[in-house]
Amino acid sequence: MSQQIYINGEYFSKDDAKISVYDHGLLYGDGVFEGMRIYGGRVFRLHEHLVRLWESAASIGLQIPTPLEQLTLDVNQCVATNGLDEGYIRLLVTRGSGALGLDPFRCSNPQVIIIVDKITLYPEELYEHGLELVTASTIRNHPAALSPRVKSLNYLNNILAKMEGLKAGCVEALMLNHKGEVAECTGDNVFIVKAGRLLTPPIDAGILEGITRNAVLELAREAGIETIETTMTRHDLFIADECFLTGSAAEVIPAVRLDGRNIGDGKPGPITMQLNEAYRELVRS
Ligand code: PMP
Repeated sequence: MSQQIYINGEYFSKDDAKISVYDHGLLYGDGVFEGMRIYGGRVFRLHEHLVRLWESAASIGLQIPTPLEQLTLDVNQCVATNGLDEGYIRLLVTRGSGALGLDPFRCSNPQVIIIVDKITLYPEELYEHGLELVTASTIRNHPAALSPRVKSLNYLNNILAKMEGLKAGCVEALMLNHKGEVAECTGDNVFIVKAGRLLTPPIDAGILEGITRNAVLELAREAGIETIETTMTRHDLFIADECFLTGSAAEVIPAVRLDGRNIGDGKPGPITMQLNEAYRELVRS
């Protein structure tokens, strides 16, 4: 059967899955989303993703029309309908269609969309040898402008930084916050290892609270590795023993160079590899 896309409780083929050009999700990026993984036919940390979706929506004053319990069932049903054992889910909720002006209160019928598809991963050799980062000159959204905790449909901030990374030959780019501190990457959270301890920027550095980030922090604690959420600068990455990124798509991927300098010895480190293994075990358990 061809791919089936869910829109407001109904299924459509890819070519017939359409929403209004008056939807504020399209006109203004007014809406929220989640990206999730399917492992062995099951959605990893579905509840955590849905809670984050609800929090993103609450933050922008968007009422999700489907109750959380129902949407849980609907996501699982959509995965089953598409029959993918391994894959990626894009779940989005738009503000709905309104007038051409900004006024969100004139929008009706928010669209709840679930796309289940195959996943495009970073090349395997980047997991073996590590990836290279550049620091983007585009800083992460100021939390007082649009909180990076909101996973909104307006991803231009990250797209502009991603463009800088790609133009420099890097698949990811490091983003700093308005204070010049390390925030995260364009679609991944960042960690370093220093003297056997695991460090990552705190939520109030202006980052998305990654589901993978939280899982990796748990795995590290279980393995007896001390974890610290602390402010860091690029200097901390330059002098780190190891560095890696986390994300639902990326999982745990080593980063071995930043702005032309090696991090540690320029090779994936042992704690990175240990957590990469532990994460791969967790998602399949
Ligand atoms: N930061 C940003 C900006 C993201 O878009 C994402 C998700 N792609 C992440 C971090 C990682 O979050 P998660 O582990 O929940 O996928």
